[in-house]
Amino acid sequence: MSKPGKQADIQWREDGQPLSRAYDDIYFSSASGLEETRYVFLQQNALAERWANLNEHATFTIGETGFGTGLNFLAAWELWQETAPKSARLHFITVEKSPLHPQDLRRALALWPQLEAFSQTFIDGYPPLLAEGVHRLQFGPVSLTLIIGEASEALQSLRLQQECRDRLVDAWFLDGFAPAKNPDMWTPKLFGNMASLSRTGATFSTFTCAGLVKRGLRDAGFALNKVPGFGSKREMLCGTLETLHHNDFKTTPWHLPATAPQRPESVTIIGGGISGATIARALAERGVRVQLFERGPAPGSGGSGNDQGILYGKLSPKPGPNGDFNLNALMFAQRYYRQYCPQLAHFNGLLQLAQTDKEQQLQQQISDALAQYRDQNLAQAISAEEASTLAGVALPFSGLYFPGAGWLEPQKVCTSLLEHENITRQHCHEVEMLARRQGLWHLRAAGKDIEAETVILCGANDIRHFAPAAVLPLRPIRGQVSRALATEASSQLRIALCGEGYITPAHEGRQSFGATFKLKESATELRESEHRENLQTLSDLLPDLAAEFSTQAFTGRAALRAATPDYLPIAGPIPNWESLQSTYANLRKNRKLLIGELADYQPGLYAMGGLGSRGFTYAPLTAELLASWIMGEALPVSAELALALHPARFAIRDLGKNRPSVGN
Ligand code: SAM
Repeated sequence: MSKPGKQADIQWREDGQPLSRAYDDIYFSSASGLEETRYVFLQQNALAERWANLNEHATFTIGETGFGTGLNFLAAWELWQETAPKSARLHFITVEKSPLHPQDLRRALALWPQLEAFSQTFIDGYPPLLAEGVHRLQFGPVSLTLIIGEASEALQSLRLQQECRDRLVDAWFLDGFAPAKNPDMWTPKLFGNMASLSRTGATFSTFTCAGLVKRGLRDAGFALNKVPGFGSKREMLCGTLETLHHNDFKTTPWHLPATAPQRPESVTIIGGGISGATIARALAERGVRVQLFERGPAPGSGGSGNDQGILYGKLSPKPGPNGDFNLNALMFAQRYYRQYCPQLAHFNGLLQLAQTDKEQQLQQQISDALAQYRDQNLAQAISAEEASTLAGVALPFSGLYFPGAGWLEPQKVCTSLLEHENITRQHCHEVEMLARRQGLWHLRAAGKDIEAETVILCGANDIRHFAPAAVLPLRPIRGQVSRALATEASSQLRIALCGEGYITPAHEGRQSFGATFKLKESATELRESEHRENLQTLSDLLPDLAAEFSTQAFTGRAALRAATPDYLPIAGPIPNWESLQSTYANLRKNRKLLIGELADYQPGLYAMGGLGSRGFTYAPLTAELLASWIMGEALPVSAELALALHPARFAIRDLGKNRPSVGN
C-alpha cells in the first residue's frame, strides 16, 4: 500500500479561518478568500473569456500547485459551469503535499455557502483513503486529478507519462504558501516542469511577486506581467509561456505511439461486457460517438453476465503495482457505480474473511498499514464477533470490513452503462475480421463490412482472435457460480462475504455463491461437479448454510475470465510489434538503456481486457485510463501504473530479459 500523504496540521483561528501550523501561513486571504481566488487565479488567467470561446468538444486543463481546501478548484468549477459550452470538459490537475483531513475540509468549505452545491458534491467524492499518488474524481464534465505528493516530483511524473509530446496544461494556478515560508516548493525544477507540461500560449498566475518566482518563471520561458495584487497586496504576477523548450526523453518511451492520437469523433468497440461498457461510457461522456458490437443477445453475455457479483479488491501491505492498482481501482469503482447506477450497486459493506493463518497474517499487515491513515474509511480489521454482528450470521473468522463496497448486479450494470445518447449497440453481431486497408480499419460483422477510424478490442479472450493483438498473453480461466433459493436462515445474511469463495445476500429470492477457478479451461457448460465444489467452499465459510442448501438443485452460470500473467489488466494502444522489437532491440543487451526513439503503433487501435476475477472492480479505472490515452488527457493513475497496465509491457519485458519475442 502506498504511504499516506502527510496530513495538514490545521489551526483554526478565532476568525474561523484555517492556518497551517507547519508553514505558519494562511490558506487564503482573511479579507475574502473567494474573492481573492476569483481575482488572482480566474481573472488573471482570463478564464471567463477563454472558456466562452471554446469549441463544443474542447478540453481545457488547469494545473495547480497546492490544492489546500479546494477553494480554487470549486471557484473554477463554478465559473466553468457559467461560461463554458455544455459539452466541453474541464480537467483540473492539482498537487497537494499535505492533504486536509475531511473534517477540516468540510469546516473550511463551510466558509463559502455560495459554493455549497459544488463543495457538497466534492466532499462526497473525496477519497476514503488519502494515499500518496494519483486520485481521479469525476464530476460530470469536470475531472479532478488530485495528486498527493510533492509538487515538482508530481509534475515530473506527469511529464514522464507524456514524455514531452502531448503537452497538457492551458493555465496554471501557482498557489502554495508564500515563498518566504515555503522556499522548497518554488524551485527551478518546478518551473521547468510547468513549462514542459504547458501547451502553446499557456498562462499562469500567482499571488506572489517574489524575486525567486520571477526569475524561475522567466528562466523557464514564461513572459511575466506585474499587476496589482488582491486586497492589501501591492503586486502579483501573471503571464504566458513564450518559449516552448524542446524536451529530451528521460525514459525509453516505448509506451507512446510515434504519432500522437487525435481526438476521435467516433469509435467502434468490440465486446459488450464490463470492459466494453465502461470504456463506451467513458468516451460517450466525452462526447465521442460509440458503436459497440456484442456477439451475445445482450450486454454482459460473457464473463460479466452474472446476476450478482461482489466488488472486491485485494489490498497489499507493501507498495507495488498490484496492490496499488487494487487500492485505486476499488476506491474509484465504489464512487463510480454509486454515481452511474446507484440502484444496481448494493454497497452496504463487504467482509473479506481470514480463513487461513496465512490470510490472517496478511490481514494483520494490511491492518497495520491502514493504521497509518488517520480516520480513513476504506477498510478496517474486525474480530469474528464484530464480523458476525455486521453479517447477521455467525462467523468464526476475523476479517477486513469494507463499508463502502458490497455487491452489484453485473449484467444489469453493463446494460445500464450503455444507455447513453452517444452509444449505439448491435447485439448478436460477432466481429469476424479486423484488417487495416487504405488508412481505415475494416471489420466484418453479421455479413456486413464496417469501416472505423478507431477500434477498441474488449472481447476478453477473443481479443487474441484479431491478428494485431494475437500476441497479447491472455488466457481463459473458467468460473462457475451457483445460485440457490434463499431460505429463511440464509436471508439473514446482510452483507457480501468473501474468503476462499464468496456469497452474496439474498436478492429476489436467490443467492449466489462460488466461483470455481479452472485455469486454461474454455468450456462453458454448467457442471454439477462444480456446484458441489462451490458448496464445499461455502461450507468452509458457513457450514450451517451450506448444509441447508445441500438438498437443493442449483442453477448457475459458467463463463470465462480472461487473465494476464501478472494479473493486471491491459489498457492502452496496440503497438506494431515488429517496430517495437526493432526500435528497442538494444534493450536485449541492457534493459535499462535509454533509447530516445518512438515505435510505430497500430493507428487508432486499442485494447482493454485481462480483468481476471475482478472485472467490476478494475473496469471503471481501467476504462478511465484507456479513455485518457485515447483523448490525450492526463492519465488517472501514476506513470508507473500506466506502464504496468500497458499492452506492450510483456514484449518490453521479454526484450529486457533477452527472451524470444512474443509471437515468434
Ligand atoms: N489553493 C488552496 C485553496 O484553494 O485552498 C490554498 C493553497 S494553500 C495557500 C497552499 C497549499 O500548498 C497547502 O495546502 C500546502 O500543503 C501545499 N503545499 C505546500 N508546499 C507544497 C509542495 N511542495 N508540494 C505540494 N503542495 C504543497
